[in-house]
Amino acid sequence: MNYSRQREAVYGILRSTKEHPSADWIYGECKKIMPGIGLATVYRNLEQLVSQGKAIKVPVGQDRYRYDADTSPHCHGACPVCGKVWDETVSDSLNEALANECEENSSDGYSLTFFRVCGECKAKQ
Ligand SMILES: [Zn+2]
Ligand SMILES: [Zn+2]
Repeated sequence: MNYSRQREAVYGILRSTKEHPSADWIYGECKKIMPGIGLATVYRNLEQLVSQGKAIKVPVGQDRYRYDADTSPHCHGACPVCGKVWDETVSDSLNEALANECEENSSDGYSLTFFRVCGECKAKQ
């Protein structure tokens, strides 16, 4: 199978959702259109998209990551119960402070994740 077609498929799936999916979820979607694809291939393509600046990796706990096709600098929220990840809106002053911090120490970007139990999980408790 053609490598660039696989990467296009992975990228297309990632861009089609706002859910910040895990590699496993993307793998499941990929298999629907490319039944022969392996999980290792999906991981490799995701890593390539990240290194090409087309996607970002959102750390959500020990060795666990979610992927996001929105590469603009933004913060995330994550639920420690169900693992859901969402785009978190933070105050202008924090956004500004983060942008200044990046500029001062010449960082390419940042990743800031707030952990809290989401509304759905709270309702179940
Ligand atoms: Zn939750
Ligand atoms: Zn995001």
